[in-house]
Amino acid sequence: MEQQKTESLNFIEQLIEQDLKEGKFSAIQTRFPPEPNGYLHIGHAKSICLNFGLAEKYKGRCNLRFDDTNPEKEETEYVESIKTDVRWLGYDWGDHEFYASDYFQDLYEMAVRLISKGVAYVDELSAEEFNVLKGTPTEPGKESPYRNRAIQENIDLFDKMKSGVYQNGERVLRAKIDMSSPNMQLRDPILYRIKHMEHHRTGSKWCIYPTYDFAHGQSDSMEQVTHSLCTLEFEVHRPLYEWLLAQLEIYPSKQTEFARLNLSYTIVSKRNLRELVEGGHVLGWDDPRMPTISGIRRRGFTATSIRKFAESVGVARRNGLTDVALLEHAVREDLNKNAPRIFGIMNPVKLIITNWPEEKEEIMKAENNPEDENAGSRALPFTRELYIDSSDFMEDPPSPSKWFRLGPDREVRLKKAYIIKCSGFKKDQEGRILEIYAEYDPATRSGQDTSGKKVKGTLGWVSVPHAVHAEVRLYDRLFLTENLNKISDDFKNHLNPNSLQTNTNVVVEPSVRTASVGNQFQFERIGYFRVDEDSTAERIIFNRTITLKDTWGKKMN
Ligand code: ATP
Ligand code: MG
Repeated sequence: MEQQKTESLNFIEQLIEQDLKEGKFSAIQTRFPPEPNGYLHIGHAKSICLNFGLAEKYKGRCNLRFDDTNPEKEETEYVESIKTDVRWLGYDWGDHEFYASDYFQDLYEMAVRLISKGVAYVDELSAEEFNVLKGTPTEPGKESPYRNRAIQENIDLFDKMKSGVYQNGERVLRAKIDMSSPNMQLRDPILYRIKHMEHHRTGSKWCIYPTYDFAHGQSDSMEQVTHSLCTLEFEVHRPLYEWLLAQLEIYPSKQTEFARLNLSYTIVSKRNLRELVEGGHVLGWDDPRMPTISGIRRRGFTATSIRKFAESVGVARRNGLTDVALLEHAVREDLNKNAPRIFGIMNPVKLIITNWPEEKEEIMKAENNPEDENAGSRALPFTRELYIDSSDFMEDPPSPSKWFRLGPDREVRLKKAYIIKCSGFKKDQEGRILEIYAEYDPATRSGQDTSGKKVKGTLGWVSVPHAVHAEVRLYDRLFLTENLNKISDDFKNHLNPNSLQTNTNVVVEPSVRTASVGNQFQFERIGYFRVDEDSTAERIIFNRTITLKDTWGKKMN
């Protein structure tokens, strides 16, 4: 029987395909609407991949719109970082870069239209006073005494609000909807508030600013957004979104909600992330332990892996907790395919090949990536003095069937070089191993081995005179608690005190001398590393992106 392969669509794709089939739109228009009040995080990455991904898939467009209606915490620095991050993820908004603040005049005029229709009014109650009137979801509210002013009076008052006659909080503009609606969002929500404050783009031109609810839907509409995708907490705002567009009789964009991404051991809230930065708990927004896009980029997570991760998470209609191991799995998969291999020794100890002449140097050849035939190869100089990892040697090892690595009289292969046999070692007064001695077997050169010898252990090594000394920053999870949505105390109590460890004593093979910031490698048998921005001409610094061990892969097997 012939089987037809059908692609499974998520609910948003189903909706779009239905809309396209019914001819509702000729092409789809989505948008990613960040508020420039912080750096983007992995949750935003999910929204970016969704919005730009759908536009790509259905040959539509995705706008980058800065939702910059609140002057309090917004800054140009954030706008720039957001653009860098979206571009880095691999998306291009072309000339579709918009700012809600560019619509301030249009939005103001729309507000005047609502007043003129008698469906908006200037209120003089304080926030506290209004809250008392507002009631509860089970109890109808009461009307503000200012609710039924004459239209002209409202127009004059709104004009005065705009001209700076009032102080912050003295007046607001409210929609006149329904003070007894079971949906609290419809109980005369605020449309405009007074904020005597400079805006990062409009300066001191305005002292009244639209609320999120008033700006967002109208911005969507002005941009003819067909599918306005937002996270579930906005579901209760949807009736207001629709009410405003209907009252204004403008393009009816449609809002659809999906579940926000929550990751285990991870905080995805700009507010909390800012607290970590400002409180000095991390070294900045781009600290490699941060779940910000700039942080994970610096750590060495790749754009490809984040896109892959976003795809595998899919879109859901219910909030849940995604295992961070799924993200780590995507990173490992990508780096395994693409990161060149090098020898890096985390805890170096000297190995002296006693039957190798002092000055002799042989060049060994190693492929850069066994997963990629086209990745080429590199030269590894082999000399009398080498570094190996101290964890690869035991003074008194268990039986050879349990311990394949080096110990007195044991044989191992130095990867891509010779088989050696340990002939002794030297310790200092504290009992630490200072040097290990071995003899190599000339008949065992890798690729030209005529000895017929078989050994189980293979060790990485670096020639002492050629070694590059490096610093490695080892990162662990920033938080110790799996589900940070479920805690009731301060999230900072859950920080992992050992999330950063620095090893300044690492040696790496000489091919790394030509590496530059951003280059990524697999240190064989150890993990994936990226050359950090803090590196200098004298000293190379690596971030450990991730270890080789894959907990997610294991779970699936
Ligand atoms: P935060 O709570 O971190 O400040 P936010 O939603 O206030 O997030 P915005 O800049 O307003 O941040 O968000 C821009 C877009 O990113 C919105 O469409 C929002 O729904 C989406 N978004 C934010 N966080 C997540 C998340 N965790 N998962 C999916 N989408 C998200
Ligand atoms: Mg927000």
